[in-house]
Amino acid sequence: GPVRSAMAAANAPYPKSHFDVKQPSTTMNFLDNTLVESRTNKWIDLHDPATQTLVTRVPETTTEELDAAVASAKKAFPAWRKTSIMHRQQIMFRLVSLIRENWDRLAACITLEQGKTLADARGDVLRGLQVVESACAIPMTMMGEQIEVSQDMDTYTIREPLGIVAAICPFNFPAMIPLWCLPVAAVTGNCLIMKPSERDPGAAMIISELAREAGLPNGVLNIVHGTAPTVDYILDCPDIKAISFVGSDRAGKYIYERGTANGKRVQANLGAKNHAVVMPDANKQHTINSIIGAAFGAAGQRCMALSTLVFVGETKEWIKDIVARAKELKVTGGFEEGADLGPVISKQSKARIESLIQSGIDEGATLSLDGRGYVPEKYPAGNWVAPTILTDVKKGMKCYEEEIFGPVLVCLNAPTLDDAIDLINENKYGNGTAIFTTNGATARRFQKDVEVGQIGINVPIPVPLPMFSFTGNKGSVLGDLNFYGKGGLQFYTQLKTVTALWRHDDASCTKATVNMPT
Ligand code: NAD
Repeated sequence: GPVRSAMAAANAPYPKSHFDVKQPSTTMNFLDNTLVESRTNKWIDLHDPATQTLVTRVPETTTEELDAAVASAKKAFPAWRKTSIMHRQQIMFRLVSLIRENWDRLAACITLEQGKTLADARGDVLRGLQVVESACAIPMTMMGEQIEVSQDMDTYTIREPLGIVAAICPFNFPAMIPLWCLPVAAVTGNCLIMKPSERDPGAAMIISELAREAGLPNGVLNIVHGTAPTVDYILDCPDIKAISFVGSDRAGKYIYERGTANGKRVQANLGAKNHAVVMPDANKQHTINSIIGAAFGAAGQRCMALSTLVFVGETKEWIKDIVARAKELKVTGGFEEGADLGPVISKQSKARIESLIQSGIDEGATLSLDGRGYVPEKYPAGNWVAPTILTDVKKGMKCYEEEIFGPVLVCLNAPTLDDAIDLINENKYGNGTAIFTTNGATARRFQKDVEVGQIGINVPIPVPLPMFSFTGNKGSVLGDLNFYGKGGLQFYTQLKTVTALWRHDDASCTKATVNMPT
């Protein structure tokens, strides 16, 4: 059956090159558990960012197809919300094992479409898989509260699904972010309409196939594609009760404003500028390795990339070692043995990153390592930017104020810890930050005073595992319920509170009371 075929696919030898990953040449809509070719006349070509080979074409899903997705979800919801919690849990268990079996297949698809290295793409899948695993705990996490409020009277809460919900996903984590949403939304009894990034929808398509094999009924997951028109449909559709968005500030602000104006719940995770503070007492080798990995991994295209370094005091001397180690990183196609960084997502993105590097130079920063112009021999057409380091960067410079989202580390100097904390708190973003120190009191001060949602102490990318939630702060987030963990559960459910009196008839009481009981 289908499970066996997925296993066969999973066990097939995995592509070692960009040219032998099998991807459908047309990306389908996933409507009512069926892959359906779009009837649109607007297609978005998706190119492998390392080779520029045309991988697939992605439809701008038509209004009729969007209507069909909503109709499918609407039809599915009444029965889905009534399924037992143990049944939904079993589907999640099966989804966990299917994702494990298809781990390399998902990773290869991500490397092909998105560009990140195969090893890093496996991490992308794992971080999503862990959310599915935590969704298996649903019989415990969905439990409500109950108390006997007075004689024969109980009050209890019930968590109910919202109905139809939607997810609008970014390009940089093609498996993880769809999996921040699907398991939590579905296991709590909702039907999800997902719009993956039009730049790399392949992993979400594989996930849809696995979700069907795991037993998700028709209509619980529908996948549609496209850009702003598809998003506008979702924002204005009265049947969609909530929207999860992850992506840029511009799109996120728009989606939050229009979605909430239409009465929907919206959770929106946006851009970032994550600072690492290096204290003179830090463990030098650990600090440098952590910074290099977190600044340049995934070619800097992570919302939690450590893109900004704050040298406190004499640690600015460490720059020589940082530059030397950054130079050792291997920039090449993501399937290549030993690749550390792949290409950036698009030509436009490369041009934007390069112009931000130039703006830093023009505004007086020092170019300590220049990654512009690097081209690996085997991949002449790729969107390459090698590790780049700007030092003597100052507040107000464009390369400091804007999210670069590329393999560029900007370095500032701060005389003291207080100055470093002030700098971070004055920054508009508040996604993540890290301090490197061997002094517990310094770390504790930092943790208390810094206005950022996710803090690493000697940990470069402190993204919480899914028993916690993703807790960005300030300009990095709009909405008030976080993704996954308890926050995610609350986002996709609403509370009912029941107060019930169960008492045998008391014949002696014959007068009604009209006052509020005191
Ligand atoms: P993006 O905003 O360009 O795209 C995200 C989604 O929004 C896509 O599905 C896209 O089709 C849609 N979209 C884009 N422009 C739109 C518009 N004008 N109107 C309506 N919809 C629109 O983001 P991206 O480039 O795919 O992702 C990178 C960004 O995401 C970075 O800023 C990064 O920091 C952020 N990000 C944040 C987190 C987090 O948790 N804070 C995680 C990952 C990525």
